[in-house]
Amino acid sequence: MNNNGFPAYRGLMEYFCLGCSKTYSIDKLHYTCPECGGVFLLRDNSFQELMNIKGREWRDLFDSRAATKNISLRGIFRFYELIAPVVEENDVIFLGEANTPVIPAARHLESRIGQRFAFKNDGQNPSASFKDRGMACAFSYLKKLVRENGWKQVLTICASTGDTSASAALYGAYVGAPVRSVVILPQGKVTAQQLSQPLGSGANVIELPGVFDDCMKVVEYLADNFRVALLNSKNAWRILGQESYDFEVAQWYDWDMAGKVLFVPIGNAGNITAVMSGFLKLKELGIIQELPRIFGVQSSHADPVYRYYHEKKDRRSFSPVKVISSVAQAAMIGNPVSFPRVRALAARYEKEQGSGSFRVIQVEEQAIIEGMLMANQNGHIACTQGGECLAGMLRAKELGFLEENDTAILDATAHALKFSGFQEMYFSDSFPPEYDIKPRPEYINLPVQVLGSDEKNNLSEKEYTRLAVQTIAGLLELDRE
Ligand SMILES: *Cc1c(COP(=O)(O)O)cnc(C)c1O
Ligand SMILES: [Zn+2]
Repeated sequence: MNNNGFPAYRGLMEYFCLGCSKTYSIDKLHYTCPECGGVFLLRDNSFQELMNIKGREWRDLFDSRAATKNISLRGIFRFYELIAPVVEENDVIFLGEANTPVIPAARHLESRIGQRFAFKNDGQNPSASFKDRGMACAFSYLKKLVRENGWKQVLTICASTGDTSASAALYGAYVGAPVRSVVILPQGKVTAQQLSQPLGSGANVIELPGVFDDCMKVVEYLADNFRVALLNSKNAWRILGQESYDFEVAQWYDWDMAGKVLFVPIGNAGNITAVMSGFLKLKELGIIQELPRIFGVQSSHADPVYRYYHEKKDRRSFSPVKVISSVAQAAMIGNPVSFPRVRALAARYEKEQGSGSFRVIQVEEQAIIEGMLMANQNGHIACTQGGECLAGMLRAKELGFLEENDTAILDATAHALKFSGFQEMYFSDSFPPEYDIKPRPEYINLPVQVLGSDEKNNLSEKEYTRLAVQTIAGLLELDRE
């Protein structure tokens, strides 16, 4: 460690192809294997060296860094050695990401459901989703490349269901020249808030008709044929940054993962990849003694990973699905890029912690939106994907996959406000039929109009106030003091 606390350890990282096991140097940005087209994970070939340090020493080190004022260690790089121990301190970009709170479920909600659980509010990241964790890592690495290569211009590009582009545009704008950011969005398939984010950050925003999967093909073609830096989760640096989610969860629970079950929505499957990978690292280093169980959740409208794992082991084969409109729009992906990563890590996970330690739960649209409404009407700030996790927990309980003493940790992947349009559709019963959602009165909340413009125009200010008060008091059945 140097005197301001920034770690001295440097790893020997390389890209490792999950298709053909070939490895590639990190001197360049790689997305897919030039040899076989497979996806990469990044690995540190001197990880063995880290194993010489005892689990307890790691825990103490990470606990001590939790209070640092060195901003290069305040975000995801609090866990520097486990994330990307190749970036230098000056490369680190920190916009306040990570360290999101774990909020125990409201007591009345918990007792109604009969399961101990908490939300980890990743919507409290700077661009209001967990994507900032990965973006902080990808941009820190990009800064290193720019520095080492003296690049005069770097065009960053991504396709997005909304949050990747919001995050990429934010970090790109902060880094500034020579980075210029371009985002490609499926027209009409991101929320108004998610569209306003990259526009507000000054990115080039390009809209294409179709769904995310269509945009992804265009972006991949661009990345294969032009000099652009791809920021989708094919970019393995993002996965590393997202592992910080685990390290924070483990630290929050005093590094004791026994009886913990994490629920994670699956879209492009980058996040569930990161969540499995991070815990495996903690276990390997003896920082935790036991792996938590990890349950991915998918909507029946976009469930290729569920379908794969629903088959018996010897009959499994992956096929993309055609998606149907989903309120869990950020996870509405029929052909997840990271599926090979999930398959590889889930196998390792189950080998380590036994069968049933990784599962994928399927939920209905109605349950997803009502999961969000139920959470938020009890003081949480879950997005639709956070609602999907709550729905997943209820379903898992129904299927007998949860023990009475388990604690479920639900990933509220974005802030509720990004998805308020779906809440609005529910309250006003205006979902297009393909969503398959029938609003129920107990969840509907609409503003009550009192008085009309006639009263406002024709009464004196005093009379108007008096009439409004009388009307409201009557409406609320208030007693006079
Ligand atoms: C991206 C995203 C997801 C899906 O994560 P993947 O890594 O694509 O599986 C879920 N929720 C929100 C809010 C997201 O932005
Ligand atoms: Zn390969």
